[in-house]
Amino acid sequence: MDCELLDQCPFYNTLSSQAVDVLKEVYCRGNPMVCARRQVAMAIGREKTPLDLAPNHDYRVQEIIEAFLSEQ
Ligand code: SF4
Repeated sequence: MDCELLDQCPFYNTLSSQAVDVLKEVYCRGNPMVCARRQVAMAIGREKTPLDLAPNHDYRVQEIIEAFLSEQ
């Protein structure tokens, strides 16, 4: 299943390497539900999602969301 954020996702559209292409296959065109970028985007918005957040950076999701909420 393709991620619904594919068209506007900077990770998908601006990065390319052998490792990145594997992540795109696994997350973006495989199982986007577990992508860290998608989780953050759904929680606080695409524009608030750090550019350096990769799909497999799930360990950063909670910290990013909490930091955003503490600024509100
Ligand atoms: S990196 Fe995540 S949010 Fe971006 S297109 Fe891939 S699955 Fe979707």
